[in-house]
Amino acid sequence: ARHFMTRASDQASLGAYLDTNEAVTLAQAQAADERIAAGDTAPLLGVPIAHKDIFVTKDFASTAGSKMLDNYRSPFDATVVERLAQAGCVTLGKLNCDEFAMGSANENSAFKPVRNPWDTSRIPGGSSGGSAAAVAARSAPAATGTDTGGSIRQPASFCGITGIKPTYGRASRYGMIAFASSLDQAGVMARTSEDCAMLLSAMCGPDPDRDSTSLDVPAQDFTKSLNESIEGLRIGVPKEFFGEGLSADVRAAIEAALKQYEQLGAKLVDITLPRTQLSIPVYYIIAPAEASSNLSRFDGVKFGHRAKNYSDLTDMYEKTRAEGFGDEVKRRIMIGAYVLSHGYYDAYYLQAQKIRRMIADDFQNAFKQCDVIAGPVAPTVAWKLGEHGSDPLADYLADIFTLPGSLAGLPGMSIPCGFGEAQMPVGMQLLGNYCAEAKLLNTAHKFQ
Ligand code: GLN
Repeated sequence: ARHFMTRASDQASLGAYLDTNEAVTLAQAQAADERIAAGDTAPLLGVPIAHKDIFVTKDFASTAGSKMLDNYRSPFDATVVERLAQAGCVTLGKLNCDEFAMGSANENSAFKPVRNPWDTSRIPGGSSGGSAAAVAARSAPAATGTDTGGSIRQPASFCGITGIKPTYGRASRYGMIAFASSLDQAGVMARTSEDCAMLLSAMCGPDPDRDSTSLDVPAQDFTKSLNESIEGLRIGVPKEFFGEGLSADVRAAIEAALKQYEQLGAKLVDITLPRTQLSIPVYYIIAPAEASSNLSRFDGVKFGHRAKNYSDLTDMYEKTRAEGFGDEVKRRIMIGAYVLSHGYYDAYYLQAQKIRRMIADDFQNAFKQCDVIAGPVAPTVAWKLGEHGSDPLADYLADIFTLPGSLAGLPGMSIPCGFGEAQMPVGMQLLGNYCAEAKLLNTAHKFQ
């Protein structure tokens, strides 16, 4: 733990960490040492991990990257944090992210941007940008992340590390500051799929009393099947993921990786996910709709920021929210309130829900022909800080390959598979059917 704490302070200019507390970390490390001395052989005992600042923690501030929660302390730990602590993990601190996990570049953090360790003039991806940068810069051996529309897979891809988002509902959302509840899912980022498998095994499992959407699927040891043969594995290659818009460097890296899979005995199968394009408008209706509802709790009354000067209650609400939320969060609250409003609900929200179902059906059709799906995570490598300027659409469009899997609630991974333009890492996306995390990790492990 000391090694990683030193690395974290040496690498402070990356902006990956938002809160650390040496005394807390060392006390947890000491407790792990004592369990080891007493003969406990739990595999994760003493393994340091850092948490995305979307997970609430008792011992560190929990800000969700927002001024609204600056210095906020939670009275409890998120289930995921609690489970990893029970398994013996030692918390290194809290990691920077886009405000309320809304973003693709970590430029929406209210505190500071995160820099990509491979080229500090570039973004690390988002919204779990701090998690990806910390793992890539070796200031944490592993980190938790959350993925609503790609926020684990895309930063993992941009920073050259491995990340997995399990099936929606496999990891508890309790204590994850909510963005879009029907999409939000916790996962993990680390160097290898083996590390991810160990950590994910500790994180997942039902939590029926605290998360009503938690799946009733028992915890599983994902390391058991890592070495299974992938001879004859059918890998579906969706033609929509290789159309125009995919940059030549990323395409070349992915095609080379697919060849390598063929050499490992897998069979490539052409598949189609015909509604891929629609996933952008559908996601950017559903996610803001849910966000506008979830974020209504930040009113200055119970917790977080409260405006100093106000004339009455309504004025207090308005000033608190005007001061506490950043531009992207305000934009999404407005879009969300609009698509849910009377007269527009049927035209936008309901329509989006129907297409969401069709996107999920497209995947079920595809899985009749293949066992896993492979393709790019993002159309390009990590772009330069500020390159998308104030154009939110440029960020939204770059989510095209991660959104379909999120809307369907499927498990997905990003594994490093080469380098593209400017020697920046390229990640390959693997998507599996519901609860096929073990198959995904096995497929990834064989490649690594
Ligand atoms: N980039 C997407 C968004 O801005 C996804 C974010 C996420 O997965 N948390 O909403």
